[in-house]
Amino acid sequence: MTRPEAIGFIGLGNMGWPMAGNLCKAGFRVIGMDADGERQAAFADTFGAEVAEGAEAFAETDRLITMLPDGRIVADVLVGAGDVLRHLPQGSLVIDMSSGDPSAYETITPEVERLGHAMIDAPVSGGTGGAEAGTLTIMTGGDDAAIDRAMPLFEVMGGKIFRTGGLGSGQAMKALNNLASATALMVTIEVLITAQRFGLDPAMVNSILNVSTGRNNSTDKKIAPHVLSRTFDSGFGLSLMAKDLRTAHAIAERTKTPVPLSDLAVQMAQQASEALGPDADHTAVALWIEERVGDTLKPS
Ligand code: NAD
Repeated sequence: MTRPEAIGFIGLGNMGWPMAGNLCKAGFRVIGMDADGERQAAFADTFGAEVAEGAEAFAETDRLITMLPDGRIVADVLVGAGDVLRHLPQGSLVIDMSSGDPSAYETITPEVERLGHAMIDAPVSGGTGGAEAGTLTIMTGGDDAAIDRAMPLFEVMGGKIFRTGGLGSGQAMKALNNLASATALMVTIEVLITAQRFGLDPAMVNSILNVSTGRNNSTDKKIAPHVLSRTFDSGFGLSLMAKDLRTAHAIAERTKTPVPLSDLAVQMAQQASEALGPDADHTAVALWIEERVGDTLKPS
């Protein structure tokens, strides 16, 4: 009996691990790869998956998923030092599920075409919880026939799947979503500190926001478990949030759209990320805001 064609999966981080794990659990033959060798080995042990020590391991890969920090790293893995594209069988489908600047595809797509592959983008929203539950929102851009080939995988990893247009349109959508989400997180933290200084309990304020018009994804899912708890452990890095905001900002510039409020949000995220370092969770932006204000959130 011939072995089934493999699904390559590069980037087994906070998101990639549960996404690739769900593909394993659904019965797909997965070949995983991560720059962190220990993580890669642990993935193989946990899910009984194959792992790739080099690009040659993808010789039987029919569809390859990338779930890497940003577009520059995706380009490096596919056509730069990683050289993965050249090792895929002709006619493979590359599915970039990372969040990154769509301009990264300018270096990748000429090689995709020259080698006879196809490529779509499919960034996601829903966090590590959505990745574990297989309920991610997937925004996918590219040729319809290519997206059709990815649908059986998307149906395992995602809940809602949107076709957003051409290649890169998913990335634009994702970056703009995260601009809205991150701005709401930061303004919510400012609201809580201001309320506390007025004499209101920030936990009560968040509960009221949650059933009032100030409600947003942060009041609902982030403030109580990750900010007021002081755990700052949502599983989404602040450096990744800052990167998404830079992408959104670049899209605003490209489309010549004046966005003064967003400009400030991008600057704040960037400064917070630089101050708190590469390992900070995005909810730790509260620490940076608190320091500027000179007060700490203390729910009673
Ligand atoms: P992460 O930092 O946890 O994981 C990234 C993984 O990529 C790491 O395991 C790292 O070792 C690996 N890696 C880095 N460079 C590599 C290379 N050259 N070759 C192979 N592996 C390499 O990040 P994450 O939270 O899993 O996010 C991945 C992508 O998904 C990012 O673009 C992020 O913005 C996006 N995203 C994250 C979330 C979230 O809640 N964490 C939600 C939606 C989208």
